[in-house]
Amino acid sequence: MPAGRIPFYALSREELASELAAAGFEKFRAKQVFDCVYSKKIFAPKAFPALPAKLAGFLGERFDFEPAKLVGDRKAGDETKKYLFALPDGNFVECVLLKAPAEDGKTRKTLCVSTQVGCACGCRFCASAMRGFVRNLTAGEIVAQALPFVERKILTSGRAEAKFEFENIVVMGMGEPLANFDNLSAALAVFNSPEKFGFGARRITVSTCGIADRLEKLAETGFPYRLAISLHGATDEVRSQIMPINKKYPLARLVAAAKKFSEKCGRMITLEYIMIENVNDSFAQARELAKIARTLHAHVNLIPYNRVESLPWRRSDAARRAAFAKILAEKGVSHTLRREKGSEIDAACGQLALKRKLEAGAGGGACGSAEAGETAKIPPETFFNCEKPCAGQSENGEQL
Ligand code: SAH
Repeated sequence: MPAGRIPFYALSREELASELAAAGFEKFRAKQVFDCVYSKKIFAPKAFPALPAKLAGFLGERFDFEPAKLVGDRKAGDETKKYLFALPDGNFVECVLLKAPAEDGKTRKTLCVSTQVGCACGCRFCASAMRGFVRNLTAGEIVAQALPFVERKILTSGRAEAKFEFENIVVMGMGEPLANFDNLSAALAVFNSPEKFGFGARRITVSTCGIADRLEKLAETGFPYRLAISLHGATDEVRSQIMPINKKYPLARLVAAAKKFSEKCGRMITLEYIMIENVNDSFAQARELAKIARTLHAHVNLIPYNRVESLPWRRSDAARRAAFAKILAEKGVSHTLRREKGSEIDAACGQLALKRKLEAGAGGGACGSAEAGETAKIPPETFFNCEKPCAGQSENGEQL
């Protein structure tokens, strides 16, 4: 963006009105602009209807409406599409749009967004971690991942409708959302605010590898969105082996923080548990997992591990996953056992990194892949090699 442009999506209507007034435009224009952007979902001032050309020109010069540019897309499965966005500094980020039939027969769509270029958490099984951390996404860059997905219709009443193609948002792409908290919060506020995109907080899920001190703070300040914790190990011995974050925040601290969070925020947490053969899939782990889930009154999502090339981990076989789930059932733990079939959603996006690295000859990323130094000219077929969509959905396409 040219120097000095103000990120548009972070602005309140009052702030926009002051900016307009300072430039000699009528304050009421702020309402018109908000209507164009947030109701009509038009994201380029030149295309705003019924606005004086001078004002449209000013808006385009003064504000940044496109902090990330869509430069490629690719179908990754029957019902999944991945999108590549170019960032102003030459990095790239990906998001995923997942479509799956829900139990009620309707099709539900979920957008999986990234919050960082790369990731610092270093989970051993995750392709994003192999890239290392590059930078946080700005709030605008997080919001921008949603902007291309608008459906426009003329209703029988004759009224024009512009709505997002997806019903749910999961923050499960590349990066650790709670490590980019201020920008995450600002972006989620844009999605959630009734005067902006108006997604109910229950339609937004944030997944964390378990930054316990942030969860403790959130328990104090409140957090309206759904929370998923990537547990993946039910004892310190097992979890530390695959998730270095566990050394900083061991399970006792994480579980205590999560308990405080769910009690104070009054919301059920989801525990994500990817099943990796001979690593975290013993029956002893299932019993420990059941204890944690019961302590937290949490729902457990058992996810088959999605293989990452060059990493040694493999998914537990279906029989083991079922036996593991049976133990949770016997202990009265609410859980979902994701299956592998067709377009069902059973894996994360982290595995993109390595394949991209191999095929594009550069470092990769996850559902939000981003390559410093890679250019937007790389042909689309080298993008999005993740066979499976992101982890943010249950098998019937519902948000976690
Ligand atoms: N940093 C956040 C969001 C990242 S990715 C977090 O850790 O929750 C979303 C989920 O995908 C996490 O649960 C992550 O552990 C999982 N994941 C990463 N690589 C995976 C793989 N190869 N197969 C299955 N799940 C994976």
